[in-house]
Amino acid sequence: MKIGFIGLGAMGAPMAERVVKAGFPVVTTFHTRREPADALASLGARVVSTPAEVARESDAIVTILPADAELHETALGPHGLAEGFAPGKILVDMTTATATSLLEVERALAAVGGRVLDAPVSGGTPAAAQGTLTIMVGGDAALLDECRPLLATMGTRIIHVGPVGQGKVVKMINQVLAATHLLAIGEAFALGVRCGADPATLYGVIKESSGYSKMMDLRLQNFLLAGSFQPGFKLDLMKKDVNLALDSARAQSVPLLLTSAVGQLFAAASTAGNGSADFSAAARFVADMAGVDLSAAGRMPAAGNVGA
Ligand code: NAD
Repeated sequence: MKIGFIGLGAMGAPMAERVVKAGFPVVTTFHTRREPADALASLGARVVSTPAEVARESDAIVTILPADAELHETALGPHGLAEGFAPGKILVDMTTATATSLLEVERALAAVGGRVLDAPVSGGTPAAAQGTLTIMVGGDAALLDECRPLLATMGTRIIHVGPVGQGKVVKMINQVLAATHLLAIGEAFALGVRCGADPATLYGVIKESSGYSKMMDLRLQNFLLAGSFQPGFKLDLMKKDVNLALDSARAQSVPLLLTSAVGQLFAAASTAGNGSADFSAAARFVADMAGVDLSAAGRMPAAGNVGA
């Protein structure tokens, strides 16, 4: 299977590297920055000028782009994938985007005989580098089986969740919870510190208690308590994901009271200049509102550090 790979960002670059190193022939292109494409070329990939050329030269094209607008431009814009599609070719879209927008892309590609797999991911940049992502797949089960060897180079949990669009839905719900848990940690730890608690003690006890969430493992030690906010996952991308959920909730007349507040806090944290920082900077923003500097409240001992 010849693979096209488009979107060599924080996630896509390490994922594409794994695909190349697994021995698949890979062709890529670039949007504004050429360097990640050149880095992939140094491992054996070919670089071409447009998504249409990528599609012409590939059997399956992986996209992992910021959001709906970039997916549409890449798939359906001038010199987009659709211009190079032919019967049998496959788009594997791993972007966190809306189901509606991917279904539009699917309709356009199906008109020229193309097939689409909806395959967003979870696990962040460490799992992207290690090939241990969770991949939530929407689409035809036989098409998933055809693509499984490709997906297995990037993820260890490849879960079929329904038809095209359902991968996007499952990912959206994960993001609502991840964003809410993160801000709850910022707020609750700020209160704990104000009341004299040590963050390491809080974490050690709550990890074994009912208030635990995996977000503590992922973002306490190396980000919030270290005062280090190199992405990782950019705050503006999480703001986008929360807004996807809020838009979807409006369309479905579903109240999202907690998530609305989370959306406002991510918007405020972004406007305050944190948009390109790791999304955990939103929890720092919440703690700052309480006048608490979590990074000064003490680092946890190494034994308390679980996960990246
Ligand atoms: P990123 O901003 O680091 O990378 C996006 C890439 O897309 C960049 O290389 C950019 O040049 C490229 N791009 C943008 N517009 C383009 C266009 N029109 N044509 C071609 N390329 C274009 O983002 P990321 O962190 O890699 O995230 C990518 C997707 O994965 C997002 O949907 C994000 O929500 C999702 N995601 C990210 C993480 C994470 O931890 N970073 C985890 C899970 C899912």
